[in-house]
Amino acid sequence: MKKNLYAIALACLGLGTLTAQGQDQHMLSIDRAPAAPTRECATMEVLEAQMAADPTLARRMADVERHTAEVVANPTARRTNAIVTIPVVVHVVYNTTAQNVPQSQIDAQIRVLNEDFAKTNSDASLIPAAFAGVAAGTNVRFVLAKRDPNGAATTGVVRRSTKTRSFSSNDFVKYTSKGGSDAWPRDKYLNLWLCNLGQGLLGYAQFPGGAAATDGVVCLYSSVPGGTASNYNKGRTATHEVGHWLNLRHIWGDATCGNDLVADTPTQQTSNGGCPTFPHVTCGNQGDMSMNYMDYTYDACMYMFTGGQSARMDALFSAGGARVGLTTSLGGTAPRMVAATTTSDVALYPNPADNVLNLTLPQSQNSWVVKVYDLRGHEMSQARYNGQGQVSVGQLPKGLYQMTLSNGEQTIRQRFEKQ
Ligand SMILES: [Zn+2]
Repeated sequence: MKKNLYAIALACLGLGTLTAQGQDQHMLSIDRAPAAPTRECATMEVLEAQMAADPTLARRMADVERHTAEVVANPTARRTNAIVTIPVVVHVVYNTTAQNVPQSQIDAQIRVLNEDFAKTNSDASLIPAAFAGVAAGTNVRFVLAKRDPNGAATTGVVRRSTKTRSFSSNDFVKYTSKGGSDAWPRDKYLNLWLCNLGQGLLGYAQFPGGAAATDGVVCLYSSVPGGTASNYNKGRTATHEVGHWLNLRHIWGDATCGNDLVADTPTQQTSNGGCPTFPHVTCGNQGDMSMNYMDYTYDACMYMFTGGQSARMDALFSAGGARVGLTTSLGGTAPRMVAATTTSDVALYPNPADNVLNLTLPQSQNSWVVKVYDLRGHEMSQARYNGQGQVSVGQLPKGLYQMTLSNGEQTIRQRFEKQ
């Protein structure tokens, strides 16, 4: 049954004949507290705007879905048991002191993400026996970024004061020029924005395949662990939204007895709110999986992913996957400062480097001639100095190199590693 629906969903995507509901399902997810009566309206405005702005989006998302189906159907293509640790940059965009989420709550949010995705959450003990066989930890973990896109050390938290009192789902929070904070490269980081969202919004996410500038998840600042969003302050909004970012659909498939493209989740009639008692039988199932992170229940009443959901995530990190770049990101590794041996005023960082090597030099940066050699002494013309303290090393093969820096008075030699 699910397989047939899945084929239909793919066909719809491929033909570009998505219904309004289908767009909601595949393009962007917006979540409100269940009590909010108008969840669909704002969602559709955003979705229609995105579709109008980018007619190629449906095709790109269909490609992601096709690849996912291929990988899920072929377990040898999956990165099973290979943990992917994703560097996270948290953009705290605040208008009031309360919105300037403290580091302790950001740390707690990362901890909750790791526990939920690893199934080490303490409330996993509440999973009903009927679902014990399909409940699963995933292969995804999270760490606050330690290296920024320029290779410099970072705490992984960007704090920006804003004049905007309340953001909507229009993505302004993702642009510095619009009162928010620009995204970091999505092939190296998960962007997580914390801000004040209006209209009862708890959060929203962008599925794989969308635009790079808006890639990531947005959560209400008070939804983090210990926040003030009552019933939604255990950090599960982020778990749910990151689930979408990793290509998970809502557990009810965003339609009546709909399809979430996962084989081991029961078909259920619609979303559940609050804290349902199991079993709540709908659509001929043995009980809704209302305790799945991809339902709409209270934070305290959602505590599991399934193996099928984990498989969809794995597909993103396999060869050709939409988020495979994250598997080689150095964003979670602190840069290593290397002091020069001949003078205390020269440093190269990060080392190892993958793209750009930054130089700290004792005199004006453009007075130095910088050359890179392999260990046999051959000059590497692929490495270029921009005269402003940065050497591009992205074209170099991996390995050890020697750099010479000359200013006419002295020549400094430094070793570095291309990673
Ligand atoms: Zn959602």
